[in-house]
Order: sequence, then structure tokens, then C-alpha cells
Amino acid sequence: MASRVIPVDPFDLVIFGGTGDLARRKILPGLYRRFCAGQMPEEARIIGAARSDYDAAGYRAFVAEAIEEFGGRDCEQIDAFLARLDYVAVDAKGTGGWSELAQRLRDDVVRAFYFSVGPGLFGDLAERLHKNGMATPECRVVVEKPFGHDLESARALNATLAAHFDEGQIYRIDHYLGKETVQNLMAVRFGNMLFEPLWNSQYVDHIQITVAETVGVGGRGGYYDKSGAMRDMVQNHLMQLLCLIAMEPPAKFDPDAVRDEKLKVIRALDPVDHHHLVRGQYEADAQNPGYREETGDLRSKTESFIALRASVSNWRWAGTPFYLRTGKRLRARSSEIAVVFKDAPHSIFGPEAGRHRNILAIRLQPNEGITLKVTIKEPGPGGMRLVDVPLDMSFAEALGPEGEEIPDAYERLIMDVIRGNQTLFMRGDEVEAAWAWTDPIIRGWEERGEVPKPYDQGSSGPEDALMLLHRDGRRWREIRE
Ligand code: NAD
Repeated sequence: MASRVIPVDPFDLVIFGGTGDLARRKILPGLYRRFCAGQMPEEARIIGAARSDYDAAGYRAFVAEAIEEFGGRDCEQIDAFLARLDYVAVDAKGTGGWSELAQRLRDDVVRAFYFSVGPGLFGDLAERLHKNGMATPECRVVVEKPFGHDLESARALNATLAAHFDEGQIYRIDHYLGKETVQNLMAVRFGNMLFEPLWNSQYVDHIQITVAETVGVGGRGGYYDKSGAMRDMVQNHLMQLLCLIAMEPPAKFDPDAVRDEKLKVIRALDPVDHHHLVRGQYEADAQNPGYREETGDLRSKTESFIALRASVSNWRWAGTPFYLRTGKRLRARSSEIAVVFKDAPHSIFGPEAGRHRNILAIRLQPNEGITLKVTIKEPGPGGMRLVDVPLDMSFAEALGPEGEEIPDAYERLIMDVIRGNQTLFMRGDEVEAAWAWTDPIIRGWEERGEVPKPYDQGSSGPEDALMLLHRDGRRWREIRE
């Protein structure tokens, strides 16, 4: 089933930080793939803006190389794509390049500025865009994670942006929201009658959200050590996934209706008791350095793994725990949400039939898809033996256009910016509410002087994380690709 591609309106997209790592690996190759898919109109233009001293030809060569390395798809239209690129060297903190950039922009097309730079430069960029007459009331700004380090810094960032732009112009990226499966979660929940009546604490035993990585902190050790898994993953990505699972049906699929419901979920989260929280750090093994060696701080107390039990205190979810876990250097690269339903109230097949549970597993990566585990009779004449089999909805096979990959989250999100659709972007109050929940948890372990528990590389995290569920008579799903 081929997907329909509807071209977006003509646009000027300025990428501040257009020579940076994110632009090279994600933004520019993503734009090329949308170009190949026919979504970019003839009049679309992309302008790199950064400190490096490129001219347009130099930047095109830079982008061609990035696409070669990270493109993932070759539609043999690279020259036509490169012809849409331009470059202006600007200094975010100075005056150089700004009037030149202003001259390149057109008045009659969508105008978007991607702030792919550290948050310390947001204020400088916003100010200069205004001073140089580029910040029209219709223009859009895209900002990257991390959105703050705590509630106070997030508020300050929001205030900086609000001084120059309306909330309706600000697109805070959380690339997890751009994943096909994540949006499908909403389609499955709100487009079908089947699940919603069961989607509450009466029928759902618990929910597990796992984002497991096999990579370590590597070269990002210095940055990561100031953040840790809670700030880097839970406050944003896992929180967004939790919201989509827990939220009430919005009245409409429109940005504010969806985000209002997500905000209510965050505000309904209970504080996390420290007995329901496990932090870990991966240890060195014979082949690889451990977390502390990689970050260069042999006394670091920052967590590379976290598992916690969250509770959403409202009518729908009271009594159904949400178990969240994420970490680096784990057994497999795997992100999934599992909705584990309760046991049938009475087994008519007797104890020998064993325990069977329905599980709706939503896989984000790899192999995006949704699986519903149902119990059936084992085929054959051997009596009434029960087995669990998956009903599989694998998007790549079922829905992907032939031979084409599902669009990367960045591709979709950038196109949403051009279309002016904020549904899959975080609103300022959402981000602040998430920090308001996160801050006391972090403060708690800092005050207790807690040291993360060591765990083996290639494992499922520290033993204590397994105990977190065992204590409740449950167990984690296996981490596997
Ligand atoms: P980077 O250090 O690789 O690139 C920074 C870019 O900003 C360069 O193009 C540089 O020229 C430009 N820049 C720096 N100072 C400038 C100034 N004074 N004036 C004009 N341009 C200036 O950074 P990155 O990894 O590309 O990250 C960019 C943003 O995206 C950061 O906020 C980062 O946290 C976020 N982010 C990055 C990744 C990633 O995978 N790299 C993932 C998620 C979020």
C-alpha cells in the first residue's frame, strides 16, 4: 500500500547550526529523503547558517557528503536537491552575516528557523532575527532538546522564546513523537472501538515502557555526565510515551486538544517514592571501559540507567503502575511500550492451562509495529492446551510503500513545521510540568548522596531493577531486538 505524498507549501528553511552534527546526521539527509519522496515543492529553499566560512558551493559539497554518509536512500536527484541549498555565515553573538541572511529570505513563502545550536544561543538568535526584520508573525522556530536542565532553566528558556515569539510559532522537538508507531498508538486507541473500553485500571494490570540502547556514552561522556538518564531520556521521551498511553481521548486531533490532555496526565503523576526508583551505571568489562572511564570522572554519580514506578492518580489509572526503564549498554537496542492486561477473572480450563495474559506491545525500534498477544488453543487433538500467539501489525511490511523505509522521525517533524502543525511538538507548559515532576526526584537522590548501582554491559540493568517488579509480583519483558 503506497503512502500518498502531498507536497508542502513553498518554504525558506534556515538551519542555524547547519554545519553541526545533528544537521549532518539527521536534518539534511531527512530533507533529502523528503525531496526524493516528492514532498518538497520546486520553490523550497534550505539555507545553512553557522559559524563556518563556507560559500554556497562549499556548503553543497558538505551536504552532499553528509547525504552520502547518512542518506539511507538514493533517488539520484542529489544535484536537484543541492540546487535548493544556500549558505550564509552568521555569528549568533555578533553582527556578521545577518543583513545578508535577511536579503536571502522571500516574503511570500513559509518561513522557518531551525535552532540546531545549543540552548545558550536561542536568545541571541531570536533577538537578531527580530532586529534584522526576519521574525515575521507567521514565521516558525524549531528548537532542539535538551529543553532545560531543570524547571528553572526550562522556564528561563520559555521566557526567552516568549519574549520574541508566540507559543503558536514555537516547535519544541521530541523526535520520539515523530515515530510512526507513536502516532499509530493514537490511531489504534482513538480510531478503534476495540481497545478504549479496556484502557483503564479495571482491565490493565500495568504498563512497561522500555528504551534500551546498546551504545555507551562514548564521545558524549562530558555532556552526558551533567545530565544522566533521567534528564536525557525520562523527562522528555519516556514521559511523552507515557502521556500518549495514559491521556484521555482529546475532542479533536488538533494541537492544543492533544497537548491539553497530555498536560493533564503529567500533572496527575504522583511524586516517585525512592523505593520505587533504581539508578545504575555500567561497569567496565574485559573489552570495554565502563561509564566512569568513558566520562573521565571516576567518582561520577550520574546514572546511565534508570528504572522507576510511576503512578497516574486519576480515575482511569489509579492502581495501575507505569514502569519506566531506560539505559545504555544494555542487552539489545529496543524501545517498546507494553500494555499488560489483567488475567481473566476465572480460568475455565483449570490450573494446568497455565497463566495467560493479553499484551499489547508497541515497538518503536527496531521493526516498528504493534503486536497483540492473544491466547488460543494449541492446534491438534491433545486436549485443551492454551498457547499465546501474536497478532502482528508490522508497518514496514503491511503499509510501507514497496522498497521504501518508513520516514525517519525528523523528516516527518520538519514537514509538520512547514505545514504549521504543532500536534507532535511539546508545548511550553508541558515541558515545565515534566520538569516539575522530575526535579524533586533528582533532588531526592542528590540529598541522599545515592550512588548508582553497577551493572554488567550487555545485561538488562542492575538486579535491583528486576526486583522493582518482582516485589510487585510482576516481571519485565525481555529486552530484545
Ligand atoms: P554541534 O556542536 O555539532 O554544532 C553546533 C552548530 O552550531 C555548528 O553548526 C556551529 O557552527 C553552530 N554555532 C555554534 N556557535 C555559533 C555561533 N556563535 N554563531 C553561529 N553558529 C554557531 O552541535 P549538534 O550536535 O549539531 O547539536 C545542535 C543542537 O541539537 C544542540 O542543542 C543539541 O543539544 C541538539 N541535539 C543534538 C543531537 C545530535 O545527535 N547531535 C541530538 C539531539 C539534540
